[in-house]
Amino acid sequence: MKTAILSVGTEILMGQIVNTNTVYLSRELNALGFDVMYHHTVGDNTARLMETMQLLYHDCDLIITTGGLGPTQDDLTKETVCEYMEDELVLDEASMAALEKAFEQYGHKMTENNLKQAYLPSRAVIFDNPHGTAPGFALENKGKYAICLPGPPREMKEMFVNHARPYLEDKTDGKIVYKLIRTMGIGESQLETELLDLIDGQTDPTLATYAKEGESYVRVASKRATREEAEAAVAEMIVKVRERIGKFIYSEDNEDIWTVTGRSLMKKGITLSAAESCTGGLFAKTMTDIPGISAVFDRSLVTYSNEAKMQELGVSPETLEKYGAVSGQTAREMAEGLYRASGSDICISVTGVAGPDGGTPEKPAGLSYIGMHCKKGLIKNADVLTSANTSASESDEGITFVKELRTRDVGRQFNRNRSMLQMINMIYRVIGEA
Ligand code: ATP
Ligand code: MG
Repeated sequence: MKTAILSVGTEILMGQIVNTNTVYLSRELNALGFDVMYHHTVGDNTARLMETMQLLYHDCDLIITTGGLGPTQDDLTKETVCEYMEDELVLDEASMAALEKAFEQYGHKMTENNLKQAYLPSRAVIFDNPHGTAPGFALENKGKYAICLPGPPREMKEMFVNHARPYLEDKTDGKIVYKLIRTMGIGESQLETELLDLIDGQTDPTLATYAKEGESYVRVASKRATREEAEAAVAEMIVKVRERIGKFIYSEDNEDIWTVTGRSLMKKGITLSAAESCTGGLFAKTMTDIPGISAVFDRSLVTYSNEAKMQELGVSPETLEKYGAVSGQTAREMAEGLYRASGSDICISVTGVAGPDGGTPEKPAGLSYIGMHCKKGLIKNADVLTSANTSASESDEGITFVKELRTRDVGRQFNRNRSMLQMINMIYRVIGEA
């Protein structure tokens, strides 16, 4: 069924709130098998709301609105939808009783305009709203459907799950299943090239690639009569995708690299410490977002100054003097010093120019070095990580990798995130999946 999501609210058009309702509803509706064709937003204005409905119904059979169901003057979604769907508002006794009860519970006096919320289209299937006062509803007219949900996300979601979804379930002509495959170490254009014939040749399952902050994703989607058939079609396609780009895949289930790597560290009992300069503790923060990680994550030292790097990690003054704090040599000494201090299986360090200031032509903002010391015996083959930008050196205690990361300077936060992503990627590359 062709579907449109219509957000109502001047606040959204003004940029005062983010339209999270549409994101939520799109995901849910797609999963149910509805073809979401349009996202529209309109302000609190009857005429424009009317026109937008006209426009959307030209191509769609279902419009789901959120917002503008409340008691005030500018809440006019219900009235407009009712008129468009050729119905009239009548007093709904059950909604009236619920409204009175809600006001009694809040201890507020019910004002005249609140009564308006108990008036609903005569043919509507009414959705009660235990978390708020405005009920929602579904209304059918000449084979077209409208569903009106409240604006506040908590109320909207609950009403969707308890009422709208069950109402919609038997109205779909199929089920959509999709999987997001996450990759790293391969750019989006190369990814597309590898998969081009699959992308071009298929109508179902469909394949699409896209890039997101240092990673590339492949979405495999199928719409079939039943969920089982769609799942099987997706699984079959994933086998083909794996054949082409398997070594770059780290998750076939839309899990992020932190979750995947954290789980692997915990499963394998590999301990980890970090020494951070330019990331200022972000690595530790993100790592400790993972529940249970304390079993393997030992420490992260934020060694921002040269003094800290010398005192805490034993980086030599000569190294700092000769190569600078942002250098492969410093990153290496940070990682190796951290190993002496912690004894962790993996000791990872980062030092870089986060910007916007502090860069030079040789060392611009966006440049960082990552050191990673892996305890002896942890990895069998240093080749797993060596590339043009990564060197490895072996000692009696283990192997230390040093990676030079040069990214286009796109702002301090982004530069720091890139460094972090690279750190976790390097860890994943040496330990693999759980
Ligand atoms: P109320 O009874 O609270 O007035 P309502 O159904 O009339 O509910 P609106 O007045 O349009 O809804 O919006 C109420 C609040 O809900 C907004 O201030 C905003 O915080 C949130 N909201 C509305 N629409 C959206 C949306 N599309 N995405 C996220 N939040 C939203
Ligand atoms: Mg309102």
